[in-house]
Amino acid sequence: MSSQTGSPFVAEAPGGAVVLTGTPVVPGVAMGPVVRPVGSVALPATRGPWIPESERGVELERFAAASDAVAERLATRASAATGVSAEVLNTTAQLARDRGLLSTVEQRIADGASAEVATVGAADQFVALFSSLGGVMAERATDVRDVRDRIVAQLTGQGEPGVPAPDTPSILLADDLAPADTAGLDPAKIIGLAIRLGGATSHTAIIARQLGLPCVVGVGGLSDVPEGATVLVDGEHGTVTVDPDPGHAKALVHTAAKAATVLADYRGPGATRDGHRVEVLANVQDGAGARAAADAHAEGVGLLRTELAFFGRTEEPSVEEQTEIYKGVFAAFPGGKVVMRTLDAGSDKPLPFATPPNEANPALGVRGLRTARRDPGLLTRQLDAVAEAARSTGADPWVMAPMVATVAEAVEFAAQARERGMSPGVMVEVPSVAVLADRFLEHLDFLSIGTNDLSQYTLAADRLSADLADLTDPWQPALLALVQLTAAAGVRAGKPVGVCGEAAADPLLACVLVGMGVSYLSCAAGSIAGVGARLASVDLAACQRAAEVALAAADPQSARTAARTALADS
Ligand code: PEP
Ligand code: MG
Repeated sequence: MSSQTGSPFVAEAPGGAVVLTGTPVVPGVAMGPVVRPVGSVALPATRGPWIPESERGVELERFAAASDAVAERLATRASAATGVSAEVLNTTAQLARDRGLLSTVEQRIADGASAEVATVGAADQFVALFSSLGGVMAERATDVRDVRDRIVAQLTGQGEPGVPAPDTPSILLADDLAPADTAGLDPAKIIGLAIRLGGATSHTAIIARQLGLPCVVGVGGLSDVPEGATVLVDGEHGTVTVDPDPGHAKALVHTAAKAATVLADYRGPGATRDGHRVEVLANVQDGAGARAAADAHAEGVGLLRTELAFFGRTEEPSVEEQTEIYKGVFAAFPGGKVVMRTLDAGSDKPLPFATPPNEANPALGVRGLRTARRDPGLLTRQLDAVAEAARSTGADPWVMAPMVATVAEAVEFAAQARERGMSPGVMVEVPSVAVLADRFLEHLDFLSIGTNDLSQYTLAADRLSADLADLTDPWQPALLALVQLTAAAGVRAGKPVGVCGEAAADPLLACVLVGMGVSYLSCAAGSIAGVGARLASVDLAACQRAAEVALAAADPQSARTAARTALADS
């Protein structure tokens, strides 16, 4: 491969091996032969043969059988998966059976198209529609293309597109992955990932984190890596070394494997080596997720994403149904901390019963707490359900509102929570809250920093955009500065400030956050041990030094390097 002199993504390792760099998202080191996603499906020409009326019934049956087979296969994989992986596979399975897609295909077959041609035409119609809507809806276009390819492959006897299942444990290099591909990965066969697109909050990163697969995203130069090469993925340093020196590489893998056994021994509670207590909590969406988090030694729930339990629903769930769901979460942590977030519907998580359709700019529209402006009962009924679930399980819940922008909103929310005997807080996702954190804390019991949205609104970069992933990197100096402002306000007020965005899942950044004064961390269950074990290996003073140097750094990469050095010296 060419060494692309001058590229910010390419360097040379001591033995002369080429090192590509990107954003590290899941720590760990893995080495293996390169595999790539199976090549693209050959699609039929959009104007295929005209099908006579007498044969159109058969075409319709062929389509139904193919879409059913695709949906079944994805649903079977979903049932073997958990958490976000299961969710993503189920969503794609549902899309293969989507009524809108089916009726558009039916119409095209009725007009004389073959099943394959009708599938491509109908899918392209949806892709065009979603792409024209932009933002979150544009993401759906990737899923539709993925389903289109799977159905056409089934109809035409081509191999199923997606990730191969190699005999030797391998490293997957890809430009980008469809959510269903990442969710269906078998960690026994794919042991590491390097992706050209995507950032720390992309689907690929979230699922890799859940599966514990070392992963680097935003890696330039991957397409130049030759077939048959061996690569070493270092998810701590964000590097991909091509044909590394075997002795050196084995030593790195060995050291990482030893570190992994320390993770396996993690039992909590969270604290630094010198005993500074930091709760390490989990982000969950329902009772099953909470039980899995308890098994992973989470001390409680730092973010219950209530909206995810209602995804795909067209009507608001009753208070009784909501109560049952929340009881399931409280029951997983008897006497433990559970921070439930009221519905964060809208933008990347639209719920038809809560969010207005066709907003021009949903990320800046009626989402989160703002949905209560349209329907105040949505919020009060949810708070009633939480209060009832808490009463019947003896829990003492903290409740927080998402997408809060003003002190007045926080004051009103706090009154509603306190009326029901619950501790109120708000998410820090909009920069206005970080800037005025002291004033917010006068009315609240805690704050929880959502770095995923805080970075999107601070850097004015869509958190789902793979092209802008460098801007939404949680190590961006402006984001770190706002986290520092908020944490310092918490220390002054003597009130807890947590972090529940993806930043809290990065063990190195977790130490920096603690050094800034953050009092609890909440992340996916799969990241609990990594974060807890790393914290247990450093002293608070080293975390504070790491915070200081990270805050002074000019860019994310130098912030990571400076923090790592400060912690290594501890
Ligand atoms: C966040 O914005 O960081 C957060 C935790 O909320 P969500 O990812 O659900 O928007
Ligand atoms: Mg958010």
